[in-house]
Amino acid sequence: MTPTSATQIEVFDTTLRDGLQVEGVSASVEDKLRIAEQLDLLGVHYIEGGWPGANPKDIEFFARASNELRLNTSTLVAFGSTRRPRGKVDTDDTLRNLVEAGTPAVCIVAKSSAYHVTEALQTTLDEGEAMIADSVRFLGAAGRLVLVDMEHFFDGFKADAEFSLRALEAAVVAGASHVVLCDTNGGSLPHEVSEIVADVHGHVGNDVTIGIHCHDDTGCAVANSMAAVRAGARHVQGTLNGLGERTGNANLTTIIPNLELKLGHRCLPEGHLTHLTSVSHHVAELLNRAVNPQAPYVGTGAFAHKAGLHASAIARRKDAYEHVDPKAVGNGTRFVVSEMAGRATINLKAAELGLDIDGPSVGAVIDDLKRLEHEGYHFEAADASLELLMRRASGWEQPFFTVESMRVITDQGAPAPQGRPGMGTEATVKLWVAGERHVHTAEGNGPVNAIDKAVRLALASTYPQLARVHLTDFKVRILDGAGATGAVTRVLLDATDGERDWTTIGVSPNIIEASWRALEDSLVYGLLHTA
Ligand SMILES: [Zn+2]
Repeated sequence: MTPTSATQIEVFDTTLRDGLQVEGVSASVEDKLRIAEQLDLLGVHYIEGGWPGANPKDIEFFARASNELRLNTSTLVAFGSTRRPRGKVDTDDTLRNLVEAGTPAVCIVAKSSAYHVTEALQTTLDEGEAMIADSVRFLGAAGRLVLVDMEHFFDGFKADAEFSLRALEAAVVAGASHVVLCDTNGGSLPHEVSEIVADVHGHVGNDVTIGIHCHDDTGCAVANSMAAVRAGARHVQGTLNGLGERTGNANLTTIIPNLELKLGHRCLPEGHLTHLTSVSHHVAELLNRAVNPQAPYVGTGAFAHKAGLHASAIARRKDAYEHVDPKAVGNGTRFVVSEMAGRATINLKAAELGLDIDGPSVGAVIDDLKRLEHEGYHFEAADASLELLMRRASGWEQPFFTVESMRVITDQGAPAPQGRPGMGTEATVKLWVAGERHVHTAEGNGPVNAIDKAVRLALASTYPQLARVHLTDFKVRILDGAGATGAVTRVLLDATDGERDWTTIGVSPNIIEASWRALEDSLVYGLLHTA
């Protein structure tokens, strides 16, 4: 069944629960509260906050959320499971923790595959069904909206559709508001999801909202979620940036614009889709996991054009080269510029950056680009340094600080706090900032870190906004392998202020100088653009 246009599709975000299962990510309670604020700003219907009872952090999250979070558009949801096999609902710890979380809605996971009931739970199918019905009734009686995650639904349905439908009916009859069909192992393909969701929709009709919860193990989580909506689902679960265990959960940052811009459905409150790119980057930043530059809609390269000969054609007819208007999702067109760039590309880039450069300056930019790329610079990868180069070509000089001198000392044998002697590094910088001379020394875990700290000490009082700017990645490449330690070093630095990400570049035979060039550009760019 294809929904008619402008159907409301609910968005259920599980970044704070399923999303945090991803390897290498851990979020403090404070981080989780900040992420919830971002999700509310984006305007998702439901925010699954965690599993109270599974860990003390999640209990604390729900306690603080009820006092500190003021949600405008989203409903907070606590996650748990059905009661234990052969247990009673009123003495079940999981259910009690769910009620005590105090959220208006709860989501419980229920075994909906016969194989999992008999093998994992080691109980009968009748008991499996009773566990669902009892738990839904208990939570409904406690005044909660009850969503049921039907775990392993698609695999269960393929093996024994009769039991999977019985489990689903048990939830519906007991009063669940939503039955969420889960592709828990992530192995399904769109045509299977489409058929099974249509079948379920035929069974339950519109008595209950059908939801979809996909994982990306076949690379089809987005396609599967879209297929489910086309087959009758009205509730989509997923995570921002597709975070999640193994290959990740269904990526809401792709699904939401697909549903709104391609199928004409409503997912977010009017006008909120334009927050998508900044929320995606902000959450990535809070979790210390950079957004993939190639991510659809929100990646820094999602609307990047390596213009070449087509530069002027793109400028004339942008819509001929972009599948949607990047502004619709809060992103922008970006022109990728290299030494091959001609005047047209430079003019386009200037327009993109809002820079007014005259003819001779365009010529100067092209000359600088050719010379610097020959030295080993690579501006395609470092848009922020390119912007500064273009500004400088028309006579601009950064007004924020000037360097009088800089010294870095690294000595072996300095005592480390953990006992083992290591290399100690300290940097001293002398900067002029707003007419005043600042002299600062800082220690670091390496020369770049020490310089970064000392420069920030010198700038902090004049530019407090720099506190929000920090480095997220530092890549070093040796360009002339044959020269060994005499080779040229290229440093790429990624930085962010939590909403905007940028990359700068430095090249020199001296690794510290190369690093400083990239760091200086990074700070200047941050000062130019971070309010
Ligand atoms: Zn999941």
